[in-house]
Amino acid sequence: MKIGFIGLGNMGAPMAANLAAAGHEVTGFDLAAPCPDGVAAAASAQDTASGADVVITMLPNGEILRSVAAQLHGAMKPGAVHLDCSTVDVDSARAVAEAAEAAGVSAVDAPVSGGVGGASAGTLTFMAGGSEDAFATVAPLFEVMGQKAVHCGAAGAGQAAKICNNMILGITMIGSCEAFALADKLGLDRQKMFDVVSTSSGYSWVMNAYCPAPGIGPVSPADNDYQPGFAAALMLKDLRLSQQAAEAVDADTPLGEAATALYTQFVEAEDGGGKDFSAMLPRFAARGRTG
Ligand code: NAD
Repeated sequence: MKIGFIGLGNMGAPMAANLAAAGHEVTGFDLAAPCPDGVAAAASAQDTASGADVVITMLPNGEILRSVAAQLHGAMKPGAVHLDCSTVDVDSARAVAEAAEAAGVSAVDAPVSGGVGGASAGTLTFMAGGSEDAFATVAPLFEVMGQKAVHCGAAGAGQAAKICNNMILGITMIGSCEAFALADKLGLDRQKMFDVVSTSSGYSWVMNAYCPAPGIGPVSPADNDYQPGFAAALMLKDLRLSQQAAEAVDADTPLGEAATALYTQFVEAEDGGGKDFSAMLPRFAARGRTG
């Protein structure tokens, strides 16, 4: 396929490189980052669109996505697909899909799970929203860039799935870290705590695959001095999106709200910004009930 790729940062660059390595003709554009190997540089976002079957965006937020989409859709050929893989708010995903339709092109919102490691290895999971036809058009690209793609529903459904998943992830991380910190103070050995919880009803992906305690379970960012991994600042971004969406539809999410408040404090008022989101464990371990 002929593919345009806009946003060649930590995630976009390896994704674009994998598409090029798989034999697709990829033209890229970024305001700052260079094009990776195999990707031809375009002069502008619009230039990536000319003649492209699919234009992929991998951008920081919904506001930037909306402004890039406004430049892009008119330059795309009729029937082409705008595939947005950024993590953005549900409203922006739906607005971009409406704008695409008005311009005679299709849109798929398909945020990813798997991080920079998954982007490089081509093992991302995509959660997609959009029409059956548009999903079918981009499905072969999901196979190159990832290992699984779930078609979640109409426009915005991919972003909805992503923020619900990551709200669970943030809450579960906090719960697991709280429990380790409590176990420490009760004199319970962390390895024993892991051995019990990872095979009992408290088990989770966080505990079993991404254990926040160093030296326990499979290798995780905790074993690398809490270098990300999945940065606490990115977790905060996703939690905020979950609360923005919850407010918009009047959903009651008290633990999502509490997790957002805790990660806000950790990232903005403490030293959590550059750390992995599992660094909540040393944070809790160093505190008592009143701080
Ligand atoms: P990044 O900041 O490394 O890359 C974003 C790129 O977009 C930058 O290179 C920037 O120069 C470029 N850009 C910004 N505005 C632009 C514009 N108007 N035109 C062209 N290029 C523009 O971010 P990232 O880590 O690659 O993340 C991208 C998206 O993926 C985000 O929405 C993020 O939430 C999501 N995501 C990231 C991870 C992760 O682990 N990094 C995991 C899952 C999802």
